Amino acid sequence: MPASNHSLDAYWMPFTANRQFKANPRLLASAEGMHYVSADGRRVLDGTAGLWCVNAGHGRREIAEAVSRQLLELDYAPSFQMGHPVAFEFAEALAQIAPAGLDRIFFANSGSEAVDSALKIAVAYQRAIGQGTRTRFIGRERSYHGVGFGGISVGGLVNNRRVFPTLSGVDHLRHTHDLTRNAFTAGQPEHGVELADDLERLVALHGAETIAAVIVEPVAGSAGVLPPPKGYLERLRAIADRHGILLIFDEVITGFGRLGTPFATDYFGVAPDLITVAKGITNGVVPMGAVLAKREIHDALMTGPEPQIELFHGYTYSGHPVACAAGLATLGIYRDEGLLTRVSAIETAWTQALHTLRDAPHVIDVRTIGLMAGVELAPRDGAPGARGYEVLVDAFESGLLVRTTGDIIALSPPLVAGTEHIDEIVAKLTAVLRRLA
Ligand code: PLP
Repeated sequence: MPASNHSLDAYWMPFTANRQFKANPRLLASAEGMHYVSADGRRVLDGTAGLWCVNAGHGRREIAEAVSRQLLELDYAPSFQMGHPVAFEFAEALAQIAPAGLDRIFFANSGSEAVDSALKIAVAYQRAIGQGTRTRFIGRERSYHGVGFGGISVGGLVNNRRVFPTLSGVDHLRHTHDLTRNAFTAGQPEHGVELADDLERLVALHGAETIAAVIVEPVAGSAGVLPPPKGYLERLRAIADRHGILLIFDEVITGFGRLGTPFATDYFGVAPDLITVAKGITNGVVPMGAVLAKREIHDALMTGPEPQIELFHGYTYSGHPVACAAGLATLGIYRDEGLLTRVSAIETAWTQALHTLRDAPHVIDVRTIGLMAGVELAPRDGAPGARGYEVLVDAFESGLLVRTTGDIIALSPPLVAGTEHIDEIVAKLTAVLRRLA
């Protein structure tokens, strides 16, 4: 499928089997609403909101126009010891929708940067309150926190770690995926609250006074959509509190309405100390990430002589005017169209439709929460991941974009999806699974 006259050689693609891809490229040329158009002119239903980010659907004029206006008014302004109005306005707008108390906003440019920023803020805070021995982080198996050295260190996906050195002083909770007890669950699984006690085990192993923070995705996304067992996050919060450990929720996927509430924090009613966000913050249009910090954490660092920089951390593009303009327009759409809570109205239709896939060939689990689903396939003998890849290719050729991790299919359409889109996703996927060997 030649998309243009350009050679495909120069672009070293991320998280892609480059040689395989370039032999048979899948190219997206344009997008509008719920659909992409492929380079060979086919409509492809977006079952994944791009990469979990295009929550308001594609081609939103309000965002494009805001970006365009901003580019002509103030294209860039330095972010160190200087400011510009749009960053303050956007931080204020985020603070207004943030979970109670998490209203101090540190800007980054991606989820990975947001995670590294949150880890550093956690350590800096512990030190500021006289807990300077707390430098250790606890992550969780099967978690994804981006690709910075901080993120892969607390992350729990072996392929992202095995080739690279990771931070010392990091340990991991066990993951919560348990097909034996929890297969085919809609919402939070019944079993596994006790897995939160792993934090006690790691406290006993390392000493609470060495641990700065524990970081989890409230719903693990990239590892294949793993909702937390009932009571798990509550217990993690209680153990963290007991031992003076900060709790970080990585909401890069769950933030901005994915579960039917503005943040997963609201959905589960468990309040972390720091939240990382990205993706839906600008509807995926301009790269941006952020840390939402508890006011106490921020205030504890606003100490010392006033001429002194309080946190030696930040990015050239922190609070970039164009990203902030995109973010303000995005929040405007979310507000005007009620998108941060819309999923609660379509969750039942989503759940019912997705769970019909349990009868399709090879399916060993369907799990759903909010507008997310993981459909797990039995791996083909001797070729784990092959079925997942074949589903990705066949679905794309049939006009549906899905995401696969190994043999798990992840679905997360834009939050503007109608029931007709949900039905189409399920019909197309059912047909793909029936063709699959
Ligand atoms: N954290 C989570 C939970 C994610 O899902 C992702 C990306 O999928 C990241 C962090 C990294 O975000 P980015 O790719 O923008 O660096």
